[in-house]
Amino acid sequence: MQHLFSQIQGRSVLITGGAGYIGRITHALFEQAGATVWVLDNFSGGQHPLRTKRFLQLDLLDSSSLQQVFTEHAFDIVIHLAGKIDVGESVRRPDFYWEQNVLGTQNLLNAMHGYSKNIIFASSAAVYGEHAYPVTERTSCHPTSPYGQGKLEGEHLIAKHSPSSIIFRLFNVAGAIPHPESVKQTLGEDHQPETHLIPRIIQQHLQGQSFSIYGNQYPTPDGTCIREYIHVYDVARAFLYGANQLLSKHPSQYQRTYNLSSGIAHSVLEVIQQLSNLSLQYSYGPIHYTIDNARHGDPSHITSSISPIEQALNWTPVHSSLQNILKTAWQHQLNHLDKA
Ligand code: UDP
Repeated sequence: MQHLFSQIQGRSVLITGGAGYIGRITHALFEQAGATVWVLDNFSGGQHPLRTKRFLQLDLLDSSSLQQVFTEHAFDIVIHLAGKIDVGESVRRPDFYWEQNVLGTQNLLNAMHGYSKNIIFASSAAVYGEHAYPVTERTSCHPTSPYGQGKLEGEHLIAKHSPSSIIFRLFNVAGAIPHPESVKQTLGEDHQPETHLIPRIIQQHLQGQSFSIYGNQYPTPDGTCIREYIHVYDVARAFLYGANQLLSKHPSQYQRTYNLSSGIAHSVLEVIQQLSNLSLQYSYGPIHYTIDNARHGDPSHITSSISPIEQALNWTPVHSSLQNILKTAWQHQLNHLDKA
């Protein structure tokens, strides 16, 4: 792998939010590529302990400690994943989301100033809002939730303060990978509480509960929301390709924004159907669901064009068939049930 990512070998990488779902998997991949990885995280999501010693337990709102981190360490690149991620909660607590996601990003950029210039920012497809057609990076952004508004503001801050940056707009990340150090374990989604569609359906099904669909009166063929799901390993790979690109450039100004998705769309009902098939295959029975109220802030469609990222970074999603996402997510939730 090293020769493909010649710029990563021996580099010092800081991952904010590195104890979280995407962060742990990104961490593993960058280490495999020969980087020295540091994690900065406040552990607010109830994450499991990390095995690394290169760990800074810190909140992005603690600006003086953050400043100190950058005066003490020389990071070649920062991968900024830290932030709150629940669209529904952002509607209930907009000020909290602004503080965590926008002020946190501003503090990080202030602390980096004069010390680290390269940054990759995990933004979100939520910046686009409601569009019935596949969005490109040039599509106008009209976020429908405070979460999406905060991510868009984070993008503006990066554009203003960081001359060497890649912004990835992440679509719906899901799936799991085998644990790099233990054959019996997996690295996957463990949010507390879990709000994301795929792990929620599996968890509730394995606990014998019926699943609630948030609304079936959307303007889509089956009435449920349409999203693009991307395997978390493809996301971590894109960060690696992006970091390699940023570190190989030496111009004073290099700023890019890419959709990071699979380009394959599915409705909530389709996801349930495919999971039901998988469940029957594993002799767990069909998934039962009910229709609940629509969740405030949810756009009906979020679909994308991914040809710009494919052309620019020479990256393409290779693990993101819905079948692979669901199988790996299922295995991860089963492992958790075994431990409970
Ligand atoms: N969803 C649902 N029931 C749930 C959780 C999610 O119907 O318990 C729907 C949600 O309304 C959205 C889709 O699943 O249409 C994906 O939601 P998720 O929270 O996973 O990601 P988002 O698209 O909000 O970032």
